Amino acid sequence: MIRISSTDRVFILTGAGISAESGVPTFRGAGGLWRNHRVEEVASPHAWQRDPRLVWEFYSMRRRVAAAAKPNSGHEALARLEQSLQDRLFLCTQNVDDLHERAGSVRVVHMHGELFKSRCDRCDRAPFDDSATYEPARSDGCTPRPVPRCRCGGQIRPHVCWFGEIPYDLDKIAAGLNDCTVFIAIGTSGLVEPAASFVARVRGRARTIYVGPDEPANTFAFTDCYWGKAGELLPNAFRFD
Ligand code: NAD
Ligand code: ZN
Repeated sequence: MIRISSTDRVFILTGAGISAESGVPTFRGAGGLWRNHRVEEVASPHAWQRDPRLVWEFYSMRRRVAAAAKPNSGHEALARLEQSLQDRLFLCTQNVDDLHERAGSVRVVHMHGELFKSRCDRCDRAPFDDSATYEPARSDGCTPRPVPRCRCGGQIRPHVCWFGEIPYDLDKIAAGLNDCTVFIAIGTSGLVEPAASFVARVRGRARTIYVGPDEPANTFAFTDCYWGKAGELLPNAFRFD
C-alpha cells in the first residue's frame, strides 16, 4: 500500500511494463529483436541515414500494435490518481504509445516521444498527428509508398527519441523530480538512461517505490518494491491520508 498524504507530490515514471498487459510487448519480452534486427539498430539515427524505409516499417508495426491495444487497469489507476492529486502528480512515461491518454490521463510527459506523431528530420516545423503506416516492398513488384517528404525537402520521421538522441522535456522533468516527495517507477528495467538515474536523483529526500514483476537493474535505489503486474497491483495500491 502506497500512502499519499495531502502534502505529498508524486512523480511517476512508467516504462514498457505498464503496457505489457495491454498486449504491447516490452523490448526485453520480445527478446530485443524485430525481424532479426536488434531494436537498437532500427531505432537509431544511423538506421535512419542508412534505410529510412526499414525504420518506417518498424514504426508502422508499432503503430499497428498500439492502435489495436486498449488501456489496462494499471493505466486506469494512474488516470484516477491524477484526478485525486491534480498537479501534485507528475506522470512521466518512457512509452511512446498513447495508452495513458486513452485511459484518461491528461498531463503526460512523453520523454521518448509519441508514436502517433511525426516530424521533419530537417526543419523545426512542430510535430504533427500522424498514424500512417508503411508496408514492406512486395515480391510482386508493387512499388511501396515512398517515405514522405516535408515542404522543405527533408524527410518525415517518427517523433520518437532514438537510441543516441536526447530525450524530450528534460527541464520540466528535472523540476518535477526536484519537487517530488514520492517517486514511483512502474514496469521499467532500469537500464535505459537517463530515466534509469531519476531514482538516484531523488533518493534520500523522497520515498522511492518500484512496481513490477522483476527486479530492475537499479533495485538498490528503491526503499519499497511491490513485485507483481502493474494491472493487478495499481488499482488497489494507493491510500490517501
Ligand atoms: P524494457 O523492455 O527494458 O523492460 C520492461 C520492464 O517491464 C521489465 O522490467 C519487466 O519486468 C517489466 N514488466 C513486464 N510486464 C510487466 C507488467 N505486467 N507490469 C509491470 N511491469 C512489467 O522497457 P523499459 O525499461 O521501458 O525500456 C526500454 C525502452 O523501450 C524504453 O524507452 C521504453 O519505453 C521503450 N519501449 C516502449 C514501449 C511502449 O511504448 N509501449 C514498448 C517497448 C519498449
Ligand atoms: Zn521540413
